Amino acid sequence: MTQHTDVVVVGGGQAGLATGYHLRRQKLDFVILDADPAPGGSWQHMWDSLHLFSPAEHSSLPGRLMPAQPGETYPDAGHVVDYLSDYEKRYGLPVQHGTRVEAVCRGADRLLVEADCGTWQARAVISATGTWSRPFLPTVPGRSAFTGRQLHTVNYRSPAGFAGQRVVVAGGGNSGAQTAADLAQDGQVEVTWVTRHPPRFLPDEIDGRALFDVATARRRALDADRDDTGGVASLGDIVAVPPVRAACDAGLLSARPMFARLTATGVRWADGTHATAEVVIWCTGFRPALSHLAPLNLRGPRGHIPTDGTRAVGEPRLHLLGYGDWTGPASATLIGVGRTARDAARAIAQLP
Ligand code: FAD
Repeated sequence: MTQHTDVVVVGGGQAGLATGYHLRRQKLDFVILDADPAPGGSWQHMWDSLHLFSPAEHSSLPGRLMPAQPGETYPDAGHVVDYLSDYEKRYGLPVQHGTRVEAVCRGADRLLVEADCGTWQARAVISATGTWSRPFLPTVPGRSAFTGRQLHTVNYRSPAGFAGQRVVVAGGGNSGAQTAADLAQDGQVEVTWVTRHPPRFLPDEIDGRALFDVATARRRALDADRDDTGGVASLGDIVAVPPVRAACDAGLLSARPMFARLTATGVRWADGTHATAEVVIWCTGFRPALSHLAPLNLRGPRGHIPTDGTRAVGEPRLHLLGYGDWTGPASATLIGVGRTARDAARAIAQLP
């Protein structure tokens, strides 16, 4: 049976919920289809020790401040899941959990959204599926020869289960630094951290608040045709959240260059040195989860869909939210997604 609505939102993480808040304000009829059986988006899957890089009051969706977490300046992932679950309930957002969208196609005058439990016809679709379900693994020689265990960030939860093992953590971003710190501080794991470039730690006083201000200032400068003030990446890659700072201070976080290949028993560098390892953890990032949009044939360079703000250039009834700065400045952050969600809802309300 086909159902009809003004807007289908694909994905019920923070981006989908912020969108729901603004669609409601525009008095549009909508449904949010979310593959996860429970609220919280990807936060429910992140590693146990993960904390936000901004305090609660700087990590809020539109309409409702995130409450502080007792005893924590930077809330943990569980606190974010609680906040998002409460947000969904408080605003009565029509989220249908456990529903995966397989395809979005063009119908006669509507978009057709095909999910595993039925089809929707909609005037517009907002895609907010995040990146967590598309972990990225680089092509590295010997990967299939390695006889140990290989994991990606999405499979890592805690040092439990790694005691007494030699673990190589690959990746010079926040997830690499935090995972290496988490394992090293456990004291029972022998950790080798490898990065493609020497790690660039942000100064201690720079957290998510300052990063948001930098991203906003840059957007304002570019919009006003002023000189580029330099984005967040110009400052560094790794936020010195307390566990990372502590591991650095204890001398536990020195990185080696990226190895040249995996062997059956470990990793080998270009100079021939070898480290034996039982486990390699790839903290090598994500790609946007866009396979459900393939029938629309909109992909541009680097796998992204070209956008004007949040609107897909090749399909004005489709908006994309939350994947990265290419869908709006800071769209992939708790504090930043509200602005892009508001703009998308307003644009959809004006569709004929
Ligand atoms: P997600 O949270 O991934 O939600 C997407 C939802 O879409 C999921 O519920 C999923 O089930 C659903 N979905 C996917 N595909 C389909 C489909 N085909 N059909 C239906 N549903 C589907 N941001 C901050 O502001 N502060 C931080 O401190 C911070 N730390 C981060 C730390 C890490 C390790 C990572 C990876 C990101 C961090 N971010 C942070 C960035 C960002 O806030 C998160 O990635 C956030 O989860 C993105 O929200 P989202 O709603 O876009 O995607």
